[in-house]
Amino acid sequence: MNPIRLLGKMTAKGLLIDGSGFGGGSVLITAHDVAGAMGMGNLPAEAELVGRAKFSDDNQAQLALAGWVQSEFRRQCMRNGWKADYCEGLATLCVFELVYPMRCSHCMGRGKTWQQEPERSDDGALLRMADRWVACKPCKGTGQSVLTVRNRAAIAKISKSRFSETWGPRADEMMKTLFSLEEKVLRHLWHQFADRAA
Ligand SMILES: [Zn+2]
Repeated sequence: MNPIRLLGKMTAKGLLIDGSGFGGGSVLITAHDVAGAMGMGNLPAEAELVGRAKFSDDNQAQLALAGWVQSEFRRQCMRNGWKADYCEGLATLCVFELVYPMRCSHCMGRGKTWQQEPERSDDGALLRMADRWVACKPCKGTGQSVLTVRNRAAIAKISKSRFSETWGPRADEMMKTLFSLEEKVLRHLWHQFADRAA
């Protein structure tokens, strides 16, 4: 499995995919192009929803994705004997976190920051400090940050203590599923549009 992740970032003009890990540049795709490309190939239906909900500003897809997440939670509750009262709130939270991620305050959402790094000669002597445009460490280059526990609990309509003890970790597991679907979408889009990469 290729460990390199494609990075996708929303800009004013559309979705910018950084394909440098794939030996390419970056490619900018409009919301309209994303919507068209979702129906091509053989993406799973839920991945298609993730793509349209997140990258084409499609409110119907957001609602449909929330429905899918809710039924996934319901299935887990049935299987594990958990209370199923919170599935709707948790689905709202997960779709919100996927579609409207918070901006990283360290890099202002750019994913990169200027950083001073030492430049050394071969014998290790310090030559000078050089400014480098490097991936932001706090957000690992994604430009995104996470909601506080208090806010996540409020969106899911669960008390803060119950959320942090019990439901937060389950929501995190669901986010992993959604992020892996997002990764599928980005790969799919990259393969469709990589010839446009600059
Ligand atoms: Zn950052």
